[in-house]
Amino acid sequence: MNHIKIYLDNAATTPVDKRVFEEMVPYLTEIFGNPSSVHLFGRESKKAVEKARSSVAELINADPEEIVFTSGGTESDNAVLKSTAFTCKEKGGHIITTAIEHHAILHTCEFLERNGYKITYLPVDKSGIIDLSQLENAITDKTILISVMHANNEIGTIQPIEKIGQIAKKHNILFHTDAVQTIGHLPVDVKRMNIDFLSLSAHKLYGPKGTGALYIKSGAPFEPFIHGGAQENKRRASTVNVSGIAGLGKAAEIAQKEYEEENIRIRRLRDKLLDDILSEISNVTLNGDREMRLPNNINISIKGVEGESLLLALDEKGIAASSGSACSAGSGEPSHVLNSIGLEKEAMQGSLRITLGRFTTEEEINYTFFSLKEITEKLRSFASL
Ligand SMILES: *Cc1c(COP(=O)(O)O)cnc(C)c1O
Repeated sequence: MNHIKIYLDNAATTPVDKRVFEEMVPYLTEIFGNPSSVHLFGRESKKAVEKARSSVAELINADPEEIVFTSGGTESDNAVLKSTAFTCKEKGGHIITTAIEHHAILHTCEFLERNGYKITYLPVDKSGIIDLSQLENAITDKTILISVMHANNEIGTIQPIEKIGQIAKKHNILFHTDAVQTIGHLPVDVKRMNIDFLSLSAHKLYGPKGTGALYIKSGAPFEPFIHGGAQENKRRASTVNVSGIAGLGKAAEIAQKEYEEENIRIRRLRDKLLDDILSEISNVTLNGDREMRLPNNINISIKGVEGESLLLALDEKGIAASSGSACSAGSGEPSHVLNSIGLEKEAMQGSLRITLGRFTTEEEINYTFFSLKEITEKLRSFASL
């Protein structure tokens, strides 16, 4: 029996931090009031929600009134795109995004296309970075929104968000960023970066699943995604997820205090693992940019090896990772992100994503390196038979 359990898939979701869990418990037990109620029970719940709102706002330099709690990153992304399509219909029906967005953006854009909107999907270079002059050239007098993710969930590439914000502002176009991969991990300042809308998700920063937030700049046009009661200042109906929100607030508070030191530690472990892999295993290439990259992300292609076989063999050794190969992408299609950075079919099939996190240890990294080396050699020798 194998008792080893090593989690290296933190881009997919992160474990709930124990401190977050403890913050949530009272709101799943004795403090159960509806925060919209005026009595003591309601006020106790409301206090927790408002405290969390301040913590989330502080993390991104927003005002608490600019934060709307949602069910996660996907809802926040849907809400912004569909709201802006609706509120800015008069101005035009053109939206600019990128080819490497999360499906929460891409599939919403496809829905809008089917309903008469025009979408420009900006290409990216081999690092996964958009070209700012291409962005500027894509802008027309019908452009109502620019939506560019802060960091990519597969290859970890970080976009020049501040410069994109400047371009959007210069042309008086609303700017949204899906910052699900960076909030709680990298510094984000919505004011300095000229961001009008920002999506974030609790379960990517050691909070609970099913809770997220949307930053809506004060004064930006917004039509609710979910209509009903007057919750969230009439921007998102339905009784709020008090425990989830309390958890997100605590996760934001912890991140604000700890992310800088945490990044130093994670980056060191990541670089050690990556350097060991690149120097000790032949024919491995790094996908994405070495510098403009999330500190916890490794995405490599291992020549002559199937991503799927790799994942299964790693899983057998107790190691959880991910791949952009056709099977594991879930749709039978290889990753649109790896395709967009120009990878050959073989490199897409042999891709492996390893994402470290708060609880990753050096011992785990060492074990992972040796396991990966052994597995690669074994799979390659089978393939050559
Ligand atoms: C995880 C993720 C999402 C979706 O967030 P959910 O809270 O799971 O809906 C959206 N965008 C990016 C970049 C992500 O990594």
